[in-house]
Amino acid sequence: MSCLFCKIANKTAAAEIVYEDEKIIAFKDIHPKAPLHLLIVPKKHIPRLSLFEDEDVPLLGKMIVLARDIAKQNNFGDRGFRIALNEGKDGGQTIFHVHMHLLYGRRLMWPPG
Ligand code: 5GP
Ligand code: ZN
Repeated sequence: MSCLFCKIANKTAAAEIVYEDEKIIAFKDIHPKAPLHLLIVPKKHIPRLSLFEDEDVPLLGKMIVLARDIAKQNNFGDRGFRIALNEGKDGGQTIFHVHMHLLYGRRLMWPPG
């Protein structure tokens, strides 16, 4: 199996894991774009958002709620943060195992460019 995020999920590749349960793993991005930059990743190998099936929808909800919980646990307060999910080449996706970015700790620009 050649997928990097599957390897991180099954511990055959290293990452700084900050959260894990049966279905989801979250770890630090290796090239952080903000003081805190996490990747929230379903353990199930779904290459990209456009390939999500209806049965996978609860997983997306869990990913978003996990971002909320991490924000609470880290006392982000009302500063705000960003979640981003890049889809496909034009969306900026480089790793084809679906993942959500959680960015926190600086004023983020909009539009993202
Ligand atoms: P994408 O561009 O696909 O939305 O995001 C992929 C992210 O994975 C990038 O932010 C990149 O820095 C991160 N990344 C790439 N290789 C590794 C790695 O080996 N370990 C970790 N923790 N993150 C990685
Ligand atoms: Zn994978």
